[in-house]
Amino acid sequence: MRRIAVVGGGISGLSAAFAIEQERIARSAPVEYVLFESSPRVGGVLVTDRVDGCLIEAGPDSFLTEKPWAADLCRELGVGDQLIGSNDADRKTYILVNGRLVVIPDGLMFMVPTKILPTVLSPLFTVGTKLHMAREWFHPPHTANGDETVAALVERHYGSEMVDRLADPLLSGVYGGEASQLSVRAVLPRFAEMEAQYGSLGRAMLASRRKMAQMAKGAPRPLFTSLRDGMQQMVDSILTRLTQSFLRTSTSVTDLKPAPDGWIVAAAGRSEAFDGVILAVPTQAAATIVRSASPDLATELATIQYSSSVTLTLGYGQSVRSALPPGFGFLVPRSEGKRMLACTFVHNKFPHRAPPDRALVRCFLGGARDQEILESSDEEIVVVARKELRETLGLQADPLFARVYKWKGAMAQYGVGHLERLERIERLRSQLPGLYLAGNGYRGIGVPDCVRSGLEAARNSLESLGLAQPLASSGARQPS
Ligand SMILES: Cc1cc2nc3c(=O)[nH]c(=O)nc-3n(C[C@H](O)[C@H](O)[C@H](O)COP(=O)(O)OP(=O)(O)OC[C@H]3O[C@@H](n4cnc5c(N)ncnc54)[C@H](O)[C@@H]3O)c2cc1C
Repeated sequence: MRRIAVVGGGISGLSAAFAIEQERIARSAPVEYVLFESSPRVGGVLVTDRVDGCLIEAGPDSFLTEKPWAADLCRELGVGDQLIGSNDADRKTYILVNGRLVVIPDGLMFMVPTKILPTVLSPLFTVGTKLHMAREWFHPPHTANGDETVAALVERHYGSEMVDRLADPLLSGVYGGEASQLSVRAVLPRFAEMEAQYGSLGRAMLASRRKMAQMAKGAPRPLFTSLRDGMQQMVDSILTRLTQSFLRTSTSVTDLKPAPDGWIVAAAGRSEAFDGVILAVPTQAAATIVRSASPDLATELATIQYSSSVTLTLGYGQSVRSALPPGFGFLVPRSEGKRMLACTFVHNKFPHRAPPDRALVRCFLGGARDQEILESSDEEIVVVARKELRETLGLQADPLFARVYKWKGAMAQYGVGHLERLERIERLRSQLPGLYLAGNGYRGIGVPDCVRSGLEAARNSLESLGLAQPLASSGARQPS
């Protein structure tokens, strides 16, 4: 019997464990696994609560539909019928500009304008930026000399206002990070490719939109996908499929030592032998665990930075629901001087998550620019958010309830040179046979990317032990 240790019970580690379980049960592979999770519950940042008839997401609330791995996994788990789409009929996002909410104009794809009239008429940009957009159409093809920040690329095409009003807030919402720090090649690789091929991002985006429209069949898909009972439903579904005796919660892995035919894993004062190990923990934790086996790998892993964030959900009654603007919510540029990064009107984005007489407002705070917020008490965070909601939405009412969730060091920041660092990590990892890495520190921070990374790590581990069959739900084929 071969044994694999999966370290970390977030969605990455759970996906890896599920893939091994599939191989074990469905194909009778002679393998077992132990899932080590330092906290008392598995799921990592996927946590769903219910308060006053409302469904509250403490961490991710959904995932991008265009990345198939999380939805494919749900189908494989038998909960495909529980997948729901965002309410895109009401999709509208605002940017806070000089204290006022300005809707993102139609045709703006991420930060690339593809429709002239709505952009020209929009008060989101000054005349200077609009002139930049017109000139951008004639931008010559350009290949940057090495990696650069997202801000550098966006500024070259559209000027600094576009960085402040769109690039930065959009990246804050996804990575809790800043355009002036994040790597364009790791975070927006398509932008670098489009620039090299077309020059103009606008022309490139239009070309790809035409291609996609030709390929698209049937009704348009929603931008975001989630689960009827919340993201926790993914975790619960995986849990029902795992062998319960293989789960070790409240057990932190502290060290890893090479053994003649595998690894010795140290956890909770015990050492156990395994043929393979999958580290599905944040890279900082992985660095600590591998330090004695490979100080060089530990150093590389430790250089990947993480940011912390806070989500706060406030519940209100009917009168607030009627008074709030339509749409999914708003993003806050740094220049507005607020602590809030983004705010979602949950009752519009996923209507069934709040009864018809409730409004659900979710605020996102922290990120790379405001790590100190983690030191504030829940009460202080509610006070800050309510003050800013009063200023931006005129929202005076007392909330019926408030829930604060703090996520320390949960969001990986792919800095300039991230892809080169991953190559070095991969080279060092390959010198440690039987060790695989998964999680949000490497090739994608979103839930679908994490699922993919866990599935791939499991497949690679099984293959290295001569046990693998192709895994149905592992779409992409990249080394983990
Ligand atoms: C507030 C927030 C909102 C987000 N919103 C979205 C969104 O809407 N859509 C989206 O796609 N993505 C979103 N993300 C990103 C996405 O949710 C995460 O990147 C992803 O869930 C990370 O999964 P993971 O398993 O790699 O890591 P984690 O969930 O961090 O899990 C790692 C696990 O490892 C455990 N661990 C750590 N050290 C050890 C050790 N030594 N021994 C044993 N166990 C250990 C931890 O306790 C944890 O349970 C969001 C993230 C946050 C924080």
